[in-house]
Amino acid sequence: MARSFVEEARKRVGPKRGRIGPIVERLKVEHADAGIALSFRSDIELLVSVMLSAQTTDVNVNRVTATLFQKYRRPEDYLATPQEELERDIYATGFFRQKAKAIRGTMRMLIEEYNGRVPRRLEDLVRLPGVARKTANVVAAELGEPQGVVVDTHVRRLSQRLGLTREDDPVKIERDLQRLVPRQEWGIFPHLLIWHGRRVCIARAPRCDDCVLVDLCPSSRL
Ligand code: SF4
Repeated sequence: MARSFVEEARKRVGPKRGRIGPIVERLKVEHADAGIALSFRSDIELLVSVMLSAQTTDVNVNRVTATLFQKYRRPEDYLATPQEELERDIYATGFFRQKAKAIRGTMRMLIEEYNGRVPRRLEDLVRLPGVARKTANVVAAELGEPQGVVVDTHVRRLSQRLGLTREDDPVKIERDLQRLVPRQEWGIFPHLLIWHGRRVCIARAPRCDDCVLVDLCPSSRL
């Protein structure tokens, strides 16, 4: 799009501060079922599921964890099993060597430094081996204490299309979203964008004619 056209479109929809409220409210109605698609029954299972979900689908992770979590219930169980056996047990999620190493390292740190519990604070979560900021943000949000905004490929694309950020780097996008989105919405907001991105604002062919945000979006093709 030519720059002047983008500026025109931004003017047409108005400043992002005035749009963020209706964007969130409409998406909540449109995607009332939006939420994490991973299956887990405890904090430990949540953490392991999110670690396994890197570079694969949630459906795939759920398929693996359905049996994995029967065998591994406590952090100690991951350490009592040889690394190679854990690798086999998570093989289908891909990158199984790195993931098995990260999970075992994380479980060791949980036992040694956190009484076998998953910490709540982002700065503790990112200390765990193999737990990057995105994983930490997902876990903290699911534990009911979001301390940042998860930025994945959908959140990045939709934030840009909706004119909520001009940045391209996930860390800078997160900073923009933290300034813009009310704190109580930090947990649900990424889910709303992810589900809207999967169902409507698809990467290659956004379905603007079916989009509830059409009058709030500077990238609308209508
Ligand atoms: S109007 Fe189009 S580009 Fe904008 S959010 Fe909706 S589908 Fe995406």
